[in-house]
Amino acid sequence: MRRELANILFGGSCFLCRGAARELVCAACDAELPRLGGARCPRCALESPGGLVCGRCLREQPAYDATRAALAYEFPADALVQALKFRGELALAPLVAALLEQSLDNERIDYIVPVPLSRERLRRRGYNQAAEIARRLGRPRLDLSLCERTRDGPPQMELPFAERQRNVRGAFRCTRSLDGARIAVVDDVMTTGATLNEIARTLKAAGAAHVENWVVARTPLHA
Ligand SMILES: [Zn+2]
Ligand SMILES: [Zn+2]
Repeated sequence: MRRELANILFGGSCFLCRGAARELVCAACDAELPRLGGARCPRCALESPGGLVCGRCLREQPAYDATRAALAYEFPADALVQALKFRGELALAPLVAALLEQSLDNERIDYIVPVPLSRERLRRRGYNQAAEIARRLGRPRLDLSLCERTRDGPPQMELPFAERQRNVRGAFRCTRSLDGARIAVVDDVMTTGATLNEIARTLKAAGAAHVENWVVARTPLHA
């Protein structure tokens, strides 16, 4: 399936280097993807000595319990994510979903929830990249209607870090009670974590017992 899509959409050439490829990304580019390694905080997926919960998460506990991330948000992972998000390259969704899947385990999850877009933004963009990624994970228990975005602020990436938490405060709504459920929230990229933190806060207020983030790419905080 991926090979057919690559041939149809990219003419049998690698999406990143344009060299001959039988997949969306050739073996050489795939080998160079910045997969996240090393010791990381289990809670926020930033680097942390010994893989312990980091000082930032200890000082200011996020509402989410864990973060699984596949790639560092740097070249060429950023090119993949941006093409999927802004240029409608939906054929990349199975590729990034497969990368994300490699960083997951099989702990019990009751609902998989993509970070929602508001109705207005969904209409303008025509698709929600987080939902496209979540769909391609091919796991059961995907729920596209459990969490809604009720209002839009400016896009997070246009704001200074300090204003991002305020921008998303109260922007989400949970559509039913979650009585002890374990939830995975899917997104393409995690930067400050403000959006994911607000969603986790909303899900926990609705009764979720455990919320973890499943993100394709993680931005180092200093970037
Ligand atoms: Zn290539
Ligand atoms: Zn942390």
